[in-house]
Amino acid sequence: TTKPVAQLIAKPQAQRFYKQRNKYAHKGNFGHALVAAGSYGSMGAAVLSTKSTLRIGAGKVTAFIPECGYNIMQISVPEALVQTDVNPKVLSKIEFDFMPDAIAVGMGMGTGKESVAALRGLLKKVTCPILLDADALNCISSTKTLLKLIPQNAILTPHSGELERLIGEWSDDYDKIEKTKAFSKKYNVIVIIKGANTIIISEGEMYINTTGNPGMATAGSGDVLSGVITGLVAQGYDPLMSSVFGVYLHGSAGNIASQLIGFEAMIASDITEALGDAFIELF
Ligand code: AMP
Ligand code: MG
Repeated sequence: TTKPVAQLIAKPQAQRFYKQRNKYAHKGNFGHALVAAGSYGSMGAAVLSTKSTLRIGAGKVTAFIPECGYNIMQISVPEALVQTDVNPKVLSKIEFDFMPDAIAVGMGMGTGKESVAALRGLLKKVTCPILLDADALNCISSTKTLLKLIPQNAILTPHSGELERLIGEWSDDYDKIEKTKAFSKKYNVIVIIKGANTIIISEGEMYINTTGNPGMATAGSGDVLSGVITGLVAQGYDPLMSSVFGVYLHGSAGNIASQLIGFEAMIASDITEALGDAFIELF
């Protein structure tokens, strides 16, 4: 038998990913995620991501944020634990006092030298699965010495702008996919090319998502996705399964939200609030 060129991810595939919860489960069974994100003026990215990590089912979530975001996070997401950076406005040193089961980093974090140093320190010491999004990807693109610090099996979630900064220009879709496959192979990472039909690339395999809609073309949608995938990893789905299942659920939640409020009025937090229905709709 020959391997398929790509696998479409629709409801039957998503149903197979789902792991039912045990009646006697407690929060310790669903992991403790760390979301390192935010900066002065971009705390929303950290809030959206943290809340989505909880909504998808992580047992506990700690948000690691700059000092200026402390009240914002505690009030916006009372379910989250909060630890703050020594720097008031941006992340400069990501230090936490527990062993996370999954980490997401980058959403709204900035790309200045403090952020680059914070990311470098984190990449050097990380021992659990990690998702790199947004400014974490931009830091890597601007500071190539970070590339070889990316742990194996890390999940990268670029939109096209972030992908172009990472792998360079492409001539057409075919070229984009080939270049992404080469990058994914070289650094041994999962790359999620976000867009209308999000593509997940890992170990030469390609998965194409079928859920989602143009209502999701709104600020913060990607921050929700990074939380969704990280929350799945925290509760025990492996990184590739979390990526594929997470992209499907995120798009499905977007579809449910759009049925209620339409493409134009939809905002990113509507996707987070529809995650519950996305699970219910699976079966
Ligand atoms: P970001 O640009 O980082 O906020 O990420 C945007 C998110 O919304 C990604 O998960 C995209 O796949 C999703 N998205 C944006 N536009 C569309 C679209 N036209 N159809 C489906 N999903 C979309
Ligand atoms: Mg984004």
